[in-house]
Amino acid sequence: MRRKIVAGNWKMNNDLSETEALLNDLIAQMPSTHASVMVAPTFVNLFQAFTVLKGHDIEVIAQNMHQEENGAYTGEISAKMLKSVGVNTVILGHSERRAYFGETDELLVAKVNTALANDLEIVFCFGEELEDRTSGNHFSLVESQLRNALFHLDVADWKGIVLAYEPVWAIGTGETASPEQAQEMHAFIRKTIADKFGSEVGDEVSILYGGSVKPANAAEIFAKEDVDGGLIGGAALKAADFIAIINAI
Ligand code: PEP
Repeated sequence: MRRKIVAGNWKMNNDLSETEALLNDLIAQMPSTHASVMVAPTFVNLFQAFTVLKGHDIEVIAQNMHQEENGAYTGEISAKMLKSVGVNTVILGHSERRAYFGETDELLVAKVNTALANDLEIVFCFGEELEDRTSGNHFSLVESQLRNALFHLDVADWKGIVLAYEPVWAIGTGETASPEQAQEMHAFIRKTIADKFGSEVGDEVSILYGGSVKPANAAEIFAKEDVDGGLIGGAALKAADFIAIINAI
């Protein structure tokens, strides 16, 4: 049975008091669920998020990390720093990191390796741009993102990997992949992983969908066989919406 996950990526939103308020709202409304629930506040609020969530079943995860262990990288955050405040999971490869901060597949190999070497679980994001989909190139683009960043891994490494398929044209746009489009791509991703790493890895890896998931569309997307949950951006910023999405799984 694959792990179901609903993860909220807060991006560069919520200062300290807003972080505390949203977390307290989530605690107050949190349903009992078979899914793992995760939230990714900004770096400066990670420590306080752990304090507020102590004793509650919501995992605090990080939005990013630097690929080096330490050193002269002004403004950056290392895997060890994340671990030291209690973080066990990090999002890597988000399309905003790729688009605005120049993160390449090659850089992501280094980040993936550093995360795994530090026992951090990874939510690895990837997905095609609109022009890839309209030109019919979306499957080969997604395959190349997986191959370039993850095909060097060992089978055992996959215990620490969650995949998040996020078509760039659906992120923050209000445009959502249809449940059928999501299922078609998730099945392709699972087969790609199974062909390379074996059917056990393919069957076990959780594949999340991300891209304008909201209360109104979550249930039909999550109902698809190869969709194991969601990475949620905008709708994770309102407790009631995030809770409704958790309830949809
Ligand atoms: C995201 O940034 O990972 C995301 C899916 O955002 P949104 O839900 O706002 O499209």
